[in-house]
Amino acid sequence: MRYIFTIIGSVVLTVTLVAFFFNLRQVNEERATLTINLEQRATLLADSLKESVEPSYVNSSGASLHTALQRTVDKFANRERLAGIALYDNKGALLATSSGLPKTIIENTKSVSDAMDSNKSKSDFVDADGETRYVFVDPLHNDEGSILGALMIVQNAGYINNTIAEMWRGSLIRLVTQIIIFSITIFIILRFFVFRQVVRLVESIKQIRMGKKTEIFKDTDKYSFFAPLAKEINQITKSLSQARSSASEEARMRLEKLDTPWTAERLKEFIKAYLKGRKIFVVSNREPYIHNKIKNEIKYLVPAHGMVTAVESVMEACGGLWIAHGSGDADKETSDKNGKIQVPPEEPKYTLKRIWLTPEEVQGHYVGFSNEALFPLCLMSHTRPVFRKEDWMIYKQVNGKFAESLLREIKNVSQPIVLVQDLHFALVPSIIKKNRPDAQVGLFWHHPWPSPEQFSICPWRHEIIKGMLGADVIGFHIQQHCNNFLETVGQELESIIDFERFSVTHNGHTTIIRPFPISVALTNDVSPKEDNKNIKTFKSFGIKTEFLGLGVDRLDYTKGILERFRGIEYFLDTYPEYIGRFSFLQIAAPSREGAQKYKEYAESVKLEVDRINKKFEFGDWKPIIFEKKHHSHAELTPLYRETHFCLITSLHDGMNLVSKEFIAARNDEQGVLILSELTGAARSLKEAILFNPYNIAEIGEAIKRAIQMPPSEQHVRMKTLRGRVKDYNVYRWAAEFIKEVTNLG
Ligand code: UDP
Repeated sequence: MRYIFTIIGSVVLTVTLVAFFFNLRQVNEERATLTINLEQRATLLADSLKESVEPSYVNSSGASLHTALQRTVDKFANRERLAGIALYDNKGALLATSSGLPKTIIENTKSVSDAMDSNKSKSDFVDADGETRYVFVDPLHNDEGSILGALMIVQNAGYINNTIAEMWRGSLIRLVTQIIIFSITIFIILRFFVFRQVVRLVESIKQIRMGKKTEIFKDTDKYSFFAPLAKEINQITKSLSQARSSASEEARMRLEKLDTPWTAERLKEFIKAYLKGRKIFVVSNREPYIHNKIKNEIKYLVPAHGMVTAVESVMEACGGLWIAHGSGDADKETSDKNGKIQVPPEEPKYTLKRIWLTPEEVQGHYVGFSNEALFPLCLMSHTRPVFRKEDWMIYKQVNGKFAESLLREIKNVSQPIVLVQDLHFALVPSIIKKNRPDAQVGLFWHHPWPSPEQFSICPWRHEIIKGMLGADVIGFHIQQHCNNFLETVGQELESIIDFERFSVTHNGHTTIIRPFPISVALTNDVSPKEDNKNIKTFKSFGIKTEFLGLGVDRLDYTKGILERFRGIEYFLDTYPEYIGRFSFLQIAAPSREGAQKYKEYAESVKLEVDRINKKFEFGDWKPIIFEKKHHSHAELTPLYRETHFCLITSLHDGMNLVSKEFIAARNDEQGVLILSELTGAARSLKEAILFNPYNIAEIGEAIKRAIQMPPSEQHVRMKTLRGRVKDYNVYRWAAEFIKEVTNLG
């Protein structure tokens, strides 16, 4: 619509300028014609007056001259448009004048003397008494040609201005009428002919691109002047459709061959072939797209979260419905009345259903019980969990709210596949299973599971475990977490545990416990060229040194960011030859800022950066560049590609996707991964430099090793690492988890 108004605006402006220009010309011509008419009339009148008055000048004098002249003046004075006549002697003295002539005109004898001096008639427009008058002065002569005096004819000229004003008014009315007619016509043409066709064309192309419509434009003629374009699109569509079917055929052929890598296409084919159109429902706390209002403009953000990164790839490949907490300040505005929105926003592939929580619910469920109780309980980072009864009550209430919403969505779906994500919804599996025994429910726990002793401090441990055991399958990242869970169940509940099958039977329901190491989307495909205009490079952060290091994390105390910086301090203290030659860029996405523990941690990290930078900095160089800001994956990838090493110092981490993203980005097979041995990823990524993050010296030494590692060694290690990530990428993670949940494993 904006474009239509811009076009109309431009047309109106052009028409106005053209009309103004032509009107101005016309008005000037009219004014000239009217002035010439006036002059001609004055000249004619002057000639006939001269014939009457010149003999009186010659033959009379004194009072008789005055009387004779006054008589002539009175006789001529009543003519149309004539304001009056005045007669002067050759000294410029007034001899006779018609009544009503303004004094300012008759007493201003300059034009009179000018005419007599030059012996030529003179004329001018004069404003007097609020009216414009045309003053014409002609010298009077005797027979010998000597000047006797002068004759002044004053004519009303106001009608010229009135005529001109009338012309402008008429033109303005014409112009406004034309503008209205033009605008309406242009609007109708653009809106109902051009714009509607473009929208239809774009919609069809979009449908074809998304694979929702395979039929190409049958009748290209109905696209009138877009017909040639529609024909071309037909050709492209045919090629696209052929390419799609061969990709899908290839994916189908690969389905059974486990030695070939999983791709989005293969996962789609797998879902089609095995699930036969059954829908997938995901439940998580974090939503994959958060809409916020930034300076009156609505923008969306993909949150920094390993779970989002992984599950999003699956939903993009398979479609379905994802239920999550709507946490953005513009989420309501962008969703329908049921809280639903099609995502990804540019190319919708599945439905996101947002659940609205009150600030009290967020505080009790997310900040309180999930982040301050369950999270520190599961992660060994020596932070004491805080168990509050009121948080637990709200946690149960919110689990119920999400489960209810899901039950409504699956009401008419037979055998729905439900994938519950993470520690925020431990109770959802049993609620779903109780109400819909036919649902196949999987729970993926994105964090480690602690030892039975560690877990036994939780006051509501039985309810949590029972809630989880409603699932058919519970997935953890690694076998160690599965073992811990089985031991915990054995210790806490009356149940049958089968360590051969890794299953628990409780109250007649069996749950399989298996590891599914989550991953990223590395495939055999050649990495696409970066087309992001806002690409970030180390240089764009002002970094120009020879050696570069990178850290990418949520600003979370389990990520060992303080230890990482102290490791850098150790490295520079021990190997001072690198001072000024090495820089470390830390991307820290703000996380859980509502929680006091996180606020304090963010402050201590900032203080540590300042302390270390102060110790080493000189000129415009400092060792640590700290960017406390969320970065998109498109911004992170070029940084992963440019750095010499990526440093991950988690004190405990279920998996750690950053390590895999770094590997996935390095299609040059260079770069070094320095990885904490306390991450789930360390179990499979053995070619990284592994270290204990509690030992600062080990971090410093690992940095030195990475910087000095020859390219040949980097190549061997990175090639193997890439092979591992490619072999078990996120599509395989999803396929294996879904296979297990749906009894296909
Ligand atoms: N991430 C991001 N922007 C940032 C920082 C991190 O998108 O500014 C992403 C990162 O790419 C990764 C995820 O957040 O996909 C973090 O996952 P990881 O498993 O490493 O840690 P988690 O946050 O799940 O504990």
